[in-house]
Amino acid sequence: MSGGSLVVSIHDVSPATADAARRLRGLVTDCAGEVPVSLLVVPRYHGRAMWDQDTPAWIRERVGDGDEVVLHGLVHADGRGRDGAEFTPDTGLRGSMWAIAEGRSALAMVGAPAYAHPRCLEAALADSGIAWWATRRELRARGRVIPLPSVGLGTSTRTKRAVSPLAAHAAIRALREVPAVRLDLHPADLAHRRLAREVPRLMERLLGQGRRPVRHRDLLSC
Ligand SMILES: [Zn+2]
Repeated sequence: MSGGSLVVSIHDVSPATADAARRLRGLVTDCAGEVPVSLLVVPRYHGRAMWDQDTPAWIRERVGDGDEVVLHGLVHADGRGRDGAEFTPDTGLRGSMWAIAEGRSALAMVGAPAYAHPRCLEAALADSGIAWWATRRELRARGRVIPLPSVGLGTSTRTKRAVSPLAAHAAIRALREVPAVRLDLHPADLAHRRLAREVPRLMERLLGQGRRPVRHRDLLSC
Protein backbone atom coordinates (compact mmCIF):
# COMPACT_ATOMS: atom_id res chain seq x y z
CA MET A 1 0.00 0.00 0.00
CA SER A 2 1.12 3.56 -0.28
CA GLY A 3 0.21 5.75 2.63
CA GLY A 4 -0.99 4.50 5.95
CA SER A 5 0.10 5.39 9.44
CA LEU A 6 2.73 4.20 11.84
CA VAL A 7 2.61 4.81 15.58
CA VAL A 8 6.06 4.37 17.10
CA SER A 9 5.79 3.60 20.80
CA ILE A 10 8.78 3.70 23.12
CA HIS A 11 7.83 1.55 26.06
CA ASP A 12 8.66 1.47 29.73
CA VAL A 13 9.98 5.01 30.05
CA SER A 14 11.17 5.66 33.61
CA PRO A 15 14.32 6.95 35.29
CA ALA A 16 15.74 3.40 35.35
CA THR A 17 15.34 3.00 31.59
CA ALA A 18 15.84 6.61 30.53
CA ASP A 19 19.22 6.09 28.86
CA ALA A 20 17.93 3.33 26.61
CA ALA A 21 14.69 5.22 25.96
CA ARG A 22 16.68 8.23 24.79
CA ARG A 23 18.80 6.06 22.54
CA LEU A 24 15.67 4.52 21.03
CA ARG A 25 14.29 8.02 20.48
CA GLY A 26 17.52 8.90 18.69
CA LEU A 27 17.27 5.81 16.49
CA VAL A 28 13.76 6.83 15.44
CA THR A 29 15.01 10.28 14.44
CA ASP A 30 17.95 8.74 12.56
CA CYS A 31 15.57 6.54 10.55
CA ALA A 32 12.58 8.80 10.07
CA GLY A 33 13.66 12.38 10.75
CA GLU A 34 11.78 14.68 13.09
CA VAL A 35 8.66 12.61 13.59
CA PRO A 36 6.51 12.27 16.70
CA VAL A 37 6.52 9.17 18.89
CA SER A 38 4.49 7.95 21.86
CA LEU A 39 6.44 7.74 25.11
CA LEU A 40 4.87 5.04 27.29
CA VAL A 41 5.70 6.17 30.80
CA VAL A 42 5.62 3.95 33.91
CA PRO A 43 5.31 6.24 36.97
CA ARG A 44 6.57 3.68 39.53
CA TYR A 45 8.62 1.33 37.38
CA HIS A 46 9.16 -1.92 39.35
CA GLY A 47 7.87 -0.16 42.45
CA ARG A 48 10.36 2.70 42.36
CA ALA A 49 8.47 5.90 43.02
CA MET A 50 11.48 8.23 43.07
CA TRP A 51 12.14 10.28 39.96
CA ASP A 52 15.31 12.10 39.12
CA GLN A 53 15.18 15.57 37.58
CA ASP A 54 16.62 14.75 34.20
CA THR A 55 14.01 12.25 33.04
CA PRO A 56 10.93 14.48 33.51
CA ALA A 57 12.87 17.37 31.96
CA TRP A 58 13.65 15.20 28.94
CA ILE A 59 10.02 14.06 28.69
CA ARG A 60 8.80 17.67 28.84
CA GLU A 61 11.27 18.66 26.17
CA ARG A 62 10.10 15.81 23.96
CA VAL A 63 6.44 16.76 24.49
CA GLY A 64 7.33 20.33 23.55
CA ASP A 65 8.66 18.92 20.28
CA GLY A 66 5.47 16.99 19.58
CA ASP A 67 5.83 13.62 21.28
CA GLU A 68 2.89 12.16 23.13
CA VAL A 69 3.08 10.93 26.73
CA VAL A 70 1.01 7.90 27.59
CA LEU A 71 0.43 6.15 30.91
CA HIS A 72 1.76 2.59 30.65
CA GLY A 73 0.49 1.07 33.88
CA LEU A 74 1.76 1.98 37.33
CA VAL A 75 4.63 -0.41 38.17
CA HIS A 76 5.04 -2.62 35.04
CA ALA A 77 5.49 -5.77 37.10
CA ASP A 78 3.30 -8.56 38.39
CA GLY A 79 2.61 -9.24 42.06
CA ARG A 80 5.93 -11.11 42.41
CA GLY A 81 7.96 -8.30 40.93
CA ARG A 82 8.46 -9.93 37.54
CA ASP A 83 8.63 -7.44 34.69
CA GLY A 84 5.63 -7.22 32.39
CA ALA A 85 2.09 -8.30 33.07
CA GLU A 86 0.95 -5.83 35.70
CA PHE A 87 -2.72 -6.44 35.06
CA THR A 88 -4.13 -9.96 35.30
CA PRO A 89 -7.67 -11.19 35.94
CA ASP A 90 -6.62 -11.39 39.63
CA THR A 91 -5.97 -7.65 39.70
CA GLY A 92 -9.74 -7.26 39.62
CA LEU A 93 -11.74 -4.16 38.93
CA ARG A 94 -10.85 -2.38 42.16
CA GLY A 95 -7.16 -3.07 41.82
CA SER A 96 -7.18 -1.90 38.21
CA MET A 97 -9.08 1.27 39.07
CA TRP A 98 -6.64 2.01 41.89
CA ALA A 99 -3.57 1.53 39.68
CA ILE A 100 -5.02 3.77 36.96
CA ALA A 101 -5.92 6.49 39.46
CA GLU A 102 -2.47 6.36 41.07
CA GLY A 103 -0.78 6.43 37.70
CA ARG A 104 -2.85 9.35 36.51
CA SER A 105 -2.21 11.37 39.61
CA ALA A 106 1.52 10.70 39.17
CA LEU A 107 1.41 12.00 35.63
CA ALA A 108 -1.08 14.16 33.80
CA MET A 109 -2.13 11.76 31.10
CA VAL A 110 -4.38 11.36 28.16
CA GLY A 111 -4.32 7.63 27.40
CA ALA A 112 -3.32 4.28 28.79
CA PRO A 113 -2.01 1.48 26.61
CA ALA A 114 -1.41 -1.68 28.59
CA TYR A 115 -0.77 -4.94 26.92
CA ALA A 116 -1.74 -7.55 29.42
CA HIS A 117 -5.27 -6.43 29.09
CA PRO A 118 -7.77 -8.52 31.09
CA ARG A 119 -11.42 -7.62 31.20
CA CYS A 120 -11.11 -5.99 34.63
CA LEU A 121 -8.68 -3.47 33.17
CA GLU A 122 -10.97 -2.71 30.23
CA ALA A 123 -13.82 -2.09 32.67
CA ALA A 124 -11.64 0.09 34.89
CA LEU A 125 -10.49 2.15 31.90
CA ALA A 126 -14.07 2.60 30.70
CA ASP A 127 -14.91 3.94 34.17
CA SER A 128 -11.81 6.11 34.52
CA GLY A 129 -12.59 9.13 32.39
CA ILE A 130 -9.47 8.42 30.30
CA ALA A 131 -10.16 9.50 26.73
CA TRP A 132 -8.58 6.55 24.91
CA TRP A 133 -6.47 3.47 25.41
CA ALA A 134 -4.81 0.82 23.34
CA THR A 135 -4.46 -2.93 23.40
CA ARG A 136 -2.11 -5.00 21.29
CA ARG A 137 -4.65 -4.96 18.48
CA GLU A 138 -6.77 -1.84 18.79
CA LEU A 139 -7.01 1.79 19.74
CA ARG A 140 -10.18 2.37 21.70
CA ALA A 141 -11.96 5.57 22.52
CA ARG A 142 -15.48 6.12 23.71
CA GLY A 143 -17.66 4.78 20.93
CA ARG A 144 -14.75 4.15 18.54
CA VAL A 145 -12.47 1.23 17.85
CA ILE A 146 -9.61 1.65 15.38
CA PRO A 147 -7.62 -1.43 14.38
CA LEU A 148 -3.99 -0.85 15.41
CA PRO A 149 -2.04 -4.10 15.39
CA SER A 150 1.36 -4.01 17.10
CA VAL A 151 4.70 -5.28 15.90
CA GLY A 152 7.75 -5.55 18.11
CA LEU A 153 10.64 -7.66 19.31
CA GLY A 154 10.55 -10.06 22.25
CA THR A 155 13.37 -10.00 24.76
CA SER A 156 12.12 -11.91 27.79
CA THR A 157 13.20 -15.43 26.76
CA ARG A 158 15.93 -16.88 24.58
CA THR A 159 13.31 -18.28 22.21
CA LYS A 160 11.62 -14.92 21.82
CA ARG A 161 14.95 -13.25 21.18
CA ALA A 162 15.71 -15.87 18.54
CA VAL A 163 12.44 -15.86 16.63
CA SER A 164 10.93 -12.43 17.19
CA PRO A 165 12.95 -10.58 14.48
CA LEU A 166 11.75 -12.97 11.78
CA ALA A 167 8.25 -12.95 13.19
CA ALA A 168 8.20 -9.14 13.25
CA HIS A 169 9.30 -8.89 9.62
CA ALA A 170 6.68 -11.47 8.63
CA ALA A 171 4.02 -9.53 10.55
CA ILE A 172 4.96 -6.27 8.82
CA ARG A 173 4.63 -7.99 5.48
CA ALA A 174 1.26 -9.45 6.42
CA LEU A 175 0.01 -6.07 7.67
CA ARG A 176 0.96 -4.11 4.57
CA GLU A 177 -2.67 -3.39 3.66
CA VAL A 178 -3.67 -2.41 7.20
CA PRO A 179 -4.09 1.38 7.43
CA ALA A 180 -2.45 1.87 10.85
CA VAL A 181 0.25 -0.22 12.53
CA ARG A 182 2.20 0.32 15.72
CA LEU A 183 5.86 -0.43 16.23
CA ASP A 184 6.68 -1.19 19.86
CA LEU A 185 10.23 -0.42 20.90
CA HIS A 186 11.47 -1.42 24.34
CA PRO A 187 14.54 -0.22 26.23
CA ALA A 188 15.39 -3.91 26.69
CA ASP A 189 15.72 -4.31 22.89
CA LEU A 190 18.98 -2.39 23.07
CA ALA A 191 20.47 -4.80 25.61
CA HIS A 192 20.80 -7.49 22.91
CA ARG A 193 23.01 -6.61 20.00
CA ARG A 194 21.12 -8.64 17.45
CA LEU A 195 17.79 -7.14 18.47
CA ALA A 196 19.24 -3.63 18.61
CA ARG A 197 20.28 -4.04 14.98
CA GLU A 198 16.71 -4.95 14.09
CA VAL A 199 15.18 -1.75 15.46
CA PRO A 200 16.15 0.46 12.49
CA ARG A 201 15.40 -2.37 10.06
CA LEU A 202 11.85 -2.70 11.32
CA MET A 203 11.37 1.07 11.18
CA GLU A 204 12.71 1.26 7.66
CA ARG A 205 10.54 -1.57 6.53
CA LEU A 206 7.41 0.10 7.88
CA LEU A 207 8.39 3.46 6.44
CA GLY A 208 9.07 1.67 3.15
CA GLN A 209 5.38 0.78 3.08
CA GLY A 210 4.73 4.51 2.74
CA ARG A 211 3.57 4.91 6.31
CA ARG A 212 3.64 8.28 7.99
CA PRO A 213 4.59 8.39 11.70
CA VAL A 214 1.75 9.72 13.85
CA ARG A 215 0.71 9.66 17.49
CA HIS A 216 -2.19 7.65 18.86
CA ARG A 217 -4.18 10.83 19.29
CA ASP A 218 -3.68 11.76 15.62
CA LEU A 219 -5.47 8.57 14.62
CA LEU A 220 -8.46 9.65 16.69
CA SER A 221 -8.62 13.12 15.23
CA CYS A 222 -9.09 11.99 11.62
ZN1 LIG B 1 5.81 -2.32 28.59
